[in-house]
Amino acid sequence: MLKLLQRTLAQLGCVQVTACDSARRALQEMDHPDGVPDLILLDLNMPEMDGIEFMRQLVERRYAGALILVSGEDEQILQSVERLVRAHRMTTLGHLAKPVQTEALVALIDKWEPAAGNRRRVARTTFVADDIRSAIANGELVNDYQPAVAVATGELVGVEALVRWRHPVAGLVFPDQFIGIAEAHGLIGDLTRAVLIAALAQAKGWRDAGLMLRVSVNVSTEDLAGLDFPDLVTGYAADAGVPTTSVVLEVTESRLMAKLVTGLDVLNRLRLKRFRLSIDDFGTGHSSLAQLRDMPFDELKVDRGFVHGAATDARLRAIYGASLGMGKELGMTIVAEGVEDRADWAFLRRTGCDLAQGYFIAKPMGAAELIGWLADWKLRLSEESLLADGG
Ligand code: C2E
Ligand code: MG
Ligand code: MG
Repeated sequence: MLKLLQRTLAQLGCVQVTACDSARRALQEMDHPDGVPDLILLDLNMPEMDGIEFMRQLVERRYAGALILVSGEDEQILQSVERLVRAHRMTTLGHLAKPVQTEALVALIDKWEPAAGNRRRVARTTFVADDIRSAIANGELVNDYQPAVAVATGELVGVEALVRWRHPVAGLVFPDQFIGIAEAHGLIGDLTRAVLIAALAQAKGWRDAGLMLRVSVNVSTEDLAGLDFPDLVTGYAADAGVPTTSVVLEVTESRLMAKLVTGLDVLNRLRLKRFRLSIDDFGTGHSSLAQLRDMPFDELKVDRGFVHGAATDARLRAIYGASLGMGKELGMTIVAEGVEDRADWAFLRRTGCDLAQGYFIAKPMGAAELIGWLADWKLRLSEESLLADGG
């Protein structure tokens, strides 16, 4: 099989192909300077070190190229291992069943862009609490906004505020690099306030221009640990002149509730003040069902991990369908996150999902870009027949 693959790859124009009959050999090859390949075809079932152990070694060596999995295992295992590859943040082009069919290999190689595979991830800068404290004080945090549209009509219903840090040296920094630190160092209250106030002011601006959008803001469980939080937010909304019924507070499930009683107190009071409460990233935490039982949520956001690709993946479809059905039965609005392509959109159209959000519709954007995007989107709705049956 090695010989056959080697020959096929050469015919496909791969200039240098090295065949290794064990993982250990492959790692030795990679330890040579210039020995790091752009693409590895990895058999999962190898003697001594199996493919999954080998992958761990690749992670340790910061392998930045692409992977194709080769295996005689069944489809479910291959898909699961592919998820593992992505969880390791490596690039996979897909998998090949043994014996390898030339056409299948050609199809995978065709969609491969070595340049992209080779681009090393930008080294992550680690920030400390003081950096974040001064970022908040200096107004370096800005909100992007990502539209959410009605699946049935395509209508723009609202936007989600997503915070970014315009760092003077590091450039644009995304929230996963600083939210956790802010939470751990008692800074999240100030951060949430900055995001909320900016989002509410922006929402007021849009309302004045005739765009009656809901605005969603992500709040941290740390925020919900403060009994005065409902009064604070109500005050900000009143100051901005935005009705609380147009404000959605998104709570990420994995971080829900250290102190259950306080959390329940706060969430229930927010509900009484007519804010809309949304359970974010649904399906990814550990006790999502208990939270649905206990907390007064109006909206359920199905995590993108169960949305993108659900049209073709029966496992995703089952989990997505169960979440949707449950949320509907509980009278909640269902939002699908991570709608990345046409197939995802068409799938949602068949399922009775309420709102959709994702790169296929729009990436998060600066507030000023929203009006322009909306005009484009309306054009796309008709030009791409996005509201047609099966669209
Ligand atoms: P989230 O609330 O679930 O937000 C959605 C994330 O998915 C955003 O990442 C968004 O850019 C990304 N996204 C949207 N559509 C797609 C898609 O089609 N495909 C893919 N692959 N991704 C998509 P972002 O902006 O990096 O935010 C990450 C997380 O950081 C958010 O997840 C939220 O939990 C948190 N976050 C963002 N802003 C704030 C904030 O102001 N306060 C707090 N506490 N957390 C925030
Ligand atoms: Mg969110
Ligand atoms: Mg989410």
